Amino acid sequence: MSQIVRVALNRPIRRLFDYVAADNMPLQPGQRVSVPFGRYQATGLVVETEVTPPEGIALKPVASALENWPALPAETLDLLGWAASYYQHPLGECLFMALPPALRKGRTTEAPASEQWWAARPDADCTQLPANARRQRQLLALLKASDQGVPWGHLKERGFSRSHLNALAQRSLIHTIETPDPMTTGHRTPPTTPVLTPAQKEAARDLPGRHGFSATLLYGITGSGKTEIYLHYLHQELGTEGQALVLVPEINLTPQTVARFRNYLGDRIVVWHSSLNDRQRLDTWRRVRNGEPVILIGTRSAVLLPFTNLQAIVVDEEHDSSYKQGEGFRYSARDLAVFRAHQNRCPVILGSATPSLESLHNAAVGKYRQINLTERAGPARPPAIQLLDIRSRPLTGGLSRPATEAIRETLSAGQQVLIYINRRGYAPVLMCFDCGHIAECPNCDTRLTYHRRDRALRCHHCDYQQPAFHRCPKCKGEACEPVGQGTEQSETVLAETFPEVPVIRIDRDSTQRKGSIQNILDQVNSGEPCILVGTQMVAKGHDFPNVTLVVVVNADGGLFSVDFRAPEQMVQSLLQVSGRAGRGEKPGRVLIQTCHSDHPLLITLAKGDYLTLARQLLTERQQGALPPYRAMAIVRAEAPTMEAALAFLERVRNHLPDRTLEIWGPLPAALARKAGRHRAQLVLQSERRSHLNRALTGLCQQLEQYRQPGNLRWVVDVDPLETG
Ligand code: ADP
Ligand code: ZN
Repeated sequence: MSQIVRVALNRPIRRLFDYVAADNMPLQPGQRVSVPFGRYQATGLVVETEVTPPEGIALKPVASALENWPALPAETLDLLGWAASYYQHPLGECLFMALPPALRKGRTTEAPASEQWWAARPDADCTQLPANARRQRQLLALLKASDQGVPWGHLKERGFSRSHLNALAQRSLIHTIETPDPMTTGHRTPPTTPVLTPAQKEAARDLPGRHGFSATLLYGITGSGKTEIYLHYLHQELGTEGQALVLVPEINLTPQTVARFRNYLGDRIVVWHSSLNDRQRLDTWRRVRNGEPVILIGTRSAVLLPFTNLQAIVVDEEHDSSYKQGEGFRYSARDLAVFRAHQNRCPVILGSATPSLESLHNAAVGKYRQINLTERAGPARPPAIQLLDIRSRPLTGGLSRPATEAIRETLSAGQQVLIYINRRGYAPVLMCFDCGHIAECPNCDTRLTYHRRDRALRCHHCDYQQPAFHRCPKCKGEACEPVGQGTEQSETVLAETFPEVPVIRIDRDSTQRKGSIQNILDQVNSGEPCILVGTQMVAKGHDFPNVTLVVVVNADGGLFSVDFRAPEQMVQSLLQVSGRAGRGEKPGRVLIQTCHSDHPLLITLAKGDYLTLARQLLTERQQGALPPYRAMAIVRAEAPTMEAALAFLERVRNHLPDRTLEIWGPLPAALARKAGRHRAQLVLQSERRSHLNRALTGLCQQLEQYRQPGNLRWVVDVDPLETG
């Protein structure tokens, strides 16, 4: 008897499709299949077998199975099934996220032969070859000369053939090797065990064993050496067969980080991040799926990979907003990591110097254990933070006189300075001082940022750009001037003031080229005096021992924002950037320029005491009945007119149960028009997550059933990070 299988496709539709599988094609859930879909063949994933056939419908047959084993094991199917219903995203798109791009497109799981790497065995010797085998001798000599091995492509270019390789392989003179990881080509030292400081030892002792589920929040101040603790933990606890996952924010996954892990944990380390190519992703994916005992360091999407023997998870900088995907399948990798640990009955460690209020709340109610590490490792001490009121001070390039003096002192002591400014470009506004005209984006409700390097006005929300103007387009006056501070301007002004040292800018514009961030980090790590100017990119996780002064150009952005998360995010980034100062032997200091030096939040911040700040913020959240004391979701809509977006959300509102939900809106979004589309939102909250989830599931089914106008888009964002 043939069987009916239910298949998920990589499409944004909330339904699955049934097909008939032939007798000789035994299929299991998680297997990749090729199926007819419309006029084309599509790659699908079997989610259910032995389905009862729907009556009166002639089903199409499965064309073929792409492997005879499930690409996604049961554990991964369960994880993504749960995530799809929690985040209200179509199951098919969620499942396909666990496949590398090559497999989503239906390619084979076999590594392409052309990408095989070959190496000589250490004892291989040309004398073991017949004297007339000239090419084989040359090939062996070539391979022996390279300690990394050589890819087949290079050999082919040099005129060697497969039969040359086979001849040497048959004599056991050469063998294929794992593709060397581009992040680590270079010297490799044998693994060593980290030596912990007494405070680290105490924290490590409190970490749970690897058997059974546990969630631990490791609150460790900046520079306390949380990485050392993770390393020690994995080294001690992970069995020889086990797999582990270490999640890090994108920018922190530098070759230094990987090298540090590899020093302690050896060749089990593999990486997963956005700049791997399709083949590298497939390689890593296969090792994970085959159950090799890898320790995978990866960014957000690594949490979705098909591990088969996961024994420990670490989430570094767990507060980092890059763990939440901002579009499509809007999952939080941190939250999925906790779910996954629970599912695998293994520990998860969430580490941060500025833990999210969510995690602190979970610790307070006993869901997580909390371990505090409140000393810096080695001789380093926490930096002294000073608020610098700039209300009536003249500023040059955004910097006050005392800040400039402090920079001068630091540089002449042979140390490095970091300037934090949360805006890229030259200035956030270009204004005519005659008539007050301001350059605005024609497609978005926002001002254009002035980029002086190429004299362009750019929108940071859409792709729009235009040449900057000297003559006002409105009054034709010639008094157009940039207003406010951006990284480019600080870079220019600092380079003029301190011509004797390099000024290095780190922001999205200066790091676009592949490898550029690495060059920058190398330069800073040389320890020579320099000035770093950057956006939150510099605030994250870096360890520059010779930075002893941090200047925050303006701290006030988050104080009066409409977004309820803004104060939390502001405090986190200020403490994170402060934490870059004084990580080596020399003490660090931080100057925070502000117009509100009497603001209670900033006063507590200057004491460097994150837990007290977090407690205050949590009290405010509780009083405001906001997350983490409520479950929140936002239904967002986008349409050619604001009326259409609001009217749609008004209908949505009428479908929702108002007994179990608090509903706010519909209201225009903070950025009400983006790339020519009008945006509105409806905010939903509930005391019970299950109520919210049920209401959303019902809503999505209904919305999917009734055709919406083609030019209207809607999405549900569960546990949103951006709420403005
Ligand atoms: P965190 O992530 O907690 O801010 P890191 O893990 O980056 O801190 O460590 C800060 C610095 O202290 C690094 O330079 C690290 O090499 C050093 N360090 C941490 N632990 C130790 C230790 N046990 N012995 C020596 N140096 C350490
Ligand atoms: Zn725009």
